[in-house]
Amino acid sequence: ATGAEPYDLVVIGGGPGGYVAAIKAAQLGLKTACVEKRGSLGGTCLNVGCIPSKAMLNNSHLYHQAQHDFKSRGIDVGSISLNLDTMLKAKSSAVTGLTKGIEGLFKKNKVDYLKGAGSFSSPTTVKVALNDGGETEVEAKNILIATGSEVTPFPGIEIDEKQIVSSTGALELQKVPEKMIVIGAGVIGLEMGSVWSRLGAKVEVVEFLTSVGGAGIDGEIAKSFKKTLEKQGLKFRMGTKVVDAEKKDGKVLLNVEDAKSGEKSQLDADVVLVAIGRRPVTNGLNLEAIGVEKDERGRIIVDDQYNTTCKGVKCIGDATFGPMLAHKAEEEGIAAVEIIKTGHGHVNYAAIPSVVYTHPEVAWVGKTEEDLKKEGVEYKTGKFPFLANSRAKTNADAEGTVKFLVEKETDKVLGVHIIGPNAGEMIASAVLAIEYQASAEDIARTCHAHPTLSEAFKEAAMASYSKAIHF
Ligand code: FAD
Ligand code: NAD
Repeated sequence: ATGAEPYDLVVIGGGPGGYVAAIKAAQLGLKTACVEKRGSLGGTCLNVGCIPSKAMLNNSHLYHQAQHDFKSRGIDVGSISLNLDTMLKAKSSAVTGLTKGIEGLFKKNKVDYLKGAGSFSSPTTVKVALNDGGETEVEAKNILIATGSEVTPFPGIEIDEKQIVSSTGALELQKVPEKMIVIGAGVIGLEMGSVWSRLGAKVEVVEFLTSVGGAGIDGEIAKSFKKTLEKQGLKFRMGTKVVDAEKKDGKVLLNVEDAKSGEKSQLDADVVLVAIGRRPVTNGLNLEAIGVEKDERGRIIVDDQYNTTCKGVKCIGDATFGPMLAHKAEEEGIAAVEIIKTGHGHVNYAAIPSVVYTHPEVAWVGKTEEDLKKEGVEYKTGKFPFLANSRAKTNADAEGTVKFLVEKETDKVLGVHIIGPNAGEMIASAVLAIEYQASAEDIARTCHAHPTLSEAFKEAAMASYSKAIHF
């Protein structure tokens, strides 16, 4: 409030970017506040994104396994039935546990938590419209915008979060739809499509492009990913443009056309999930007043030190450039705060992993084959199938491959692409390899425990410059 000592840093937005930045700042001795309007901390990721979707992915996988896989493992459990209500409650308690945990971390680190919507009154003043009514103003030497992103609306399709849902509604469906159409075969479409397919819905994915998995996925991996999902019962209608939708007799009718020929057809579903991407949230911040500029896609423009076009104001996470990922936002939050405190801070954008939490998982880091071809880099590949990995075989969970892309001359690891069990955990080793500029031989000569899935990682590295032992 007025008259009080100014903050060293006020963060607007309490998502993975903002809350991590606030904690780091307080740890570095900066007097810090974080403004969040949602009523709970953790942003999109903890409240309606990463965390609830992973809760539903994990539990729907277990349900599916219990139904289709337990018997062959010698586990007879009688008839299996879904209690969706309990599954949704388990998801909600995971979310609440973690969001409350951040409140605890704020207290422990002495970050002031201001509950309300922030906007700029000046480059050093944030006005907060408090959730409980009234408003307050805080002064700050530095302000960090971490306002994140929201669902990109589809012109002509109105989201009601019941029948026509975004990812948020898709995490809350009170009944398993008989038929679900997913618009967009990106990460959200495939993760949420998998959840409802496992729970019993007929799921059809309509995608404009000719490949699945969203931006940055390796072409070869994308192909086997699609085949795997098809085996699980998901249907794909590729190269198809959705035009609009109408609700009729309890159904949603979707007008689509072939992207090439323009041929029109109509699909119907009980629930339609719109998952065509996300866009930055910057409305209501009063950015115009302080001269913070955005690009044509609404992203806040920053330099390599996260400075916006207004001095003293930085921006990180989904609200600015780069992949919309929680761990990317967190890394930027830390770097931005270190820059404020010490003048130095850095994120290695070449070593940011991507994970799709389907089963099997898909994970990658670094360059794809398509990137390397485009850049004219000479490279070698090394592949190892999980079918030849003892642990994966023993677990009867052996679908997938590890694929290494290494520089021809030096064997330096340029990219790693995995589809397979626990790919999301395994990719951490690949990120370390790229971070430390390891060669494939460095990895292959590192002892990996037996029997573990990680031996597939080691052997794929080996295969890139020599030969694998077990395949
Ligand atoms: P956000 O998490 O969007 O947080 C911004 C916060 O700012 C929000 O809480 C918002 O209420 C608040 N805010 C906005 N404006 C104001 C204002 N004026 N005043 C006060 N507060 C304000 N990423 C992954 O890495 N892994 C995953 O598994 C993953 N799964 C996802 C699943 C789904 C269904 C979705 C939708 C997203 C998923 N993501 C995942 C993406 C991830 O959620 C985002 O990349 C991440 O949350 C971005 O963090 P952020 O801090 O930049 O923004
Ligand atoms: P996305 O960009 O991953 O995928 C959107 C897909 O929709 C693309 O394949 C695109 O070609 C397609 N599309 C766009 N317009 C279309 C149209 N008119 N008709 C048919 N298809 C169309 O976006 P998303 O899946 O909505 O996810 C949003 C963001 O959230 C992504 O940036 C993603 O990184 C993040 N996210 C990450 C995770 C994870 O890390 N596991 C999980 C969920 C979401």
